[in-house]
Amino acid sequence: MSKRIVILGAGESGVGSAILAHKNREDVFVSDFGEIKQKYKQKLNEYKIAWEEKKHTEDLILNADEIIKSPGIPEKVAIVKSAIEKGIPVISEIEYASKYTDAFKICITGSNGKTTTTMLIYHILKNAGLNVGLAGNVGQSWALQVAEEKFDYYVIELSSFQLDGMYDFKADIAILMNITPDHLDRYSGMQGYIDSKFRILQNQTEKDLFIYCADDEVTKKEIERRNIIAKRLPFSLSESFTEGAYKEKEIIKIKYLSNELTMSINNLALKGQHNTYNSMAAGIASQVLKIRKDDIRESLSNFQGVEHRLEHVLKVHGIEFINDSKATNVNSSWYALESVSNDLIWIVGGIDKGNDYSILNELVRKKVKAIICLGKDNKKIHNAFGEIVETIVNVESASDAVKTAYYIAKKGDSVLLSPACASFDLFDNYEDRGNQFKQAVREL
Ligand code: ADP
Repeated sequence: MSKRIVILGAGESGVGSAILAHKNREDVFVSDFGEIKQKYKQKLNEYKIAWEEKKHTEDLILNADEIIKSPGIPEKVAIVKSAIEKGIPVISEIEYASKYTDAFKICITGSNGKTTTTMLIYHILKNAGLNVGLAGNVGQSWALQVAEEKFDYYVIELSSFQLDGMYDFKADIAILMNITPDHLDRYSGMQGYIDSKFRILQNQTEKDLFIYCADDEVTKKEIERRNIIAKRLPFSLSESFTEGAYKEKEIIKIKYLSNELTMSINNLALKGQHNTYNSMAAGIASQVLKIRKDDIRESLSNFQGVEHRLEHVLKVHGIEFINDSKATNVNSSWYALESVSNDLIWIVGGIDKGNDYSILNELVRKKVKAIICLGKDNKKIHNAFGEIVETIVNVESASDAVKTAYYIAKKGDSVLLSPACASFDLFDNYEDRGNQFKQAVREL
């Protein structure tokens, strides 16, 4: 007998889940409290899947056997609470889709570096000729691919919100990049957030692998507290290991079983400490999958990078413009500031998620000539850096930010958009912010 599957949220993951459930001949209903995008309405109509928008009709939702919730909808929303009270299982798209594929799953989580590492692993595996799909927060929803494709491997980026709705899912290779405070508005304290990230290890056996950053204090402490069954493969810039990845002088070494791959840091396509971590994590996963060493080296050195992540835009009269719009927390901006060696004009600001800017003081003192605040409320930035940086200017558009930066900068300087904040005060999202920045640079 078919089950009633209700999907809350008709975005990429919701619509993908709806199509997969429809293919499984379930009784499917999609409900979105906002307005559903035209392209998704069309998709749902094409499959004759019932949907509603701008409301959640209880009678049509609380009769579900299972609810698939978009990771964007918090658990405290009334309809979700009612469903949980009624004992209806509320799961994520990833949990649902995992029941319908036996592909090998490489899963990446962490506070920062998820997308970059995910794309890098995908790039390596694809270049090596594997039949591999890319899913999670990036690109097409996983459920849709499970419904329509037949990949042997999937590289899946998992946010903590996705992990929260996962129970029976198992990652064959779990990668945890780091844990720094983020999204604390949705978790009951830091431990709640840490627990969510560690769900990436649930259901793993001795045959599975756990790749993690041994330099990350929070991760290290948590590992000590837990009984971890999977084989551990750490990566570090300061320690060395018999298996895992580490740095020795300017060489990275990646060891798995009796295989050792070495590569000069200078040959990595992605620059900066954070990207060395990303490359090491991707390198270990590829070694585990027995990709040829030459192929791994080649892919790590010719990867093009990901848009809005320390993306080189243009050099205008000797001034370099870098778009790091995806840096939406303080930690990611730390790595961005660290990775640039020129003097900097730093464009920062937006919606503050409880930021503590003090960890940036030293880098800002050393590298930043001027700060341009791109946000509606910039008080905290002025308070944090007013004593350290002489020039701090407020602007309210990407175009003014770029023009002001260009006016202040000298030949040989870099202008870095790395906001450490969310974008919703002035932009639709971080992509919109990055695109407007790039457009303004091109118009100089
Ligand atoms: P995520 O998908 O986790 O948000 P991204 O790969 O999109 O991470 O990178 C977001 C930002 O975080 C980048 O712009 C960069 O400044 C920073 N970043 C990237 N990798 C790391 C890392 N391993 N550690 C800390 N910061 C990172």
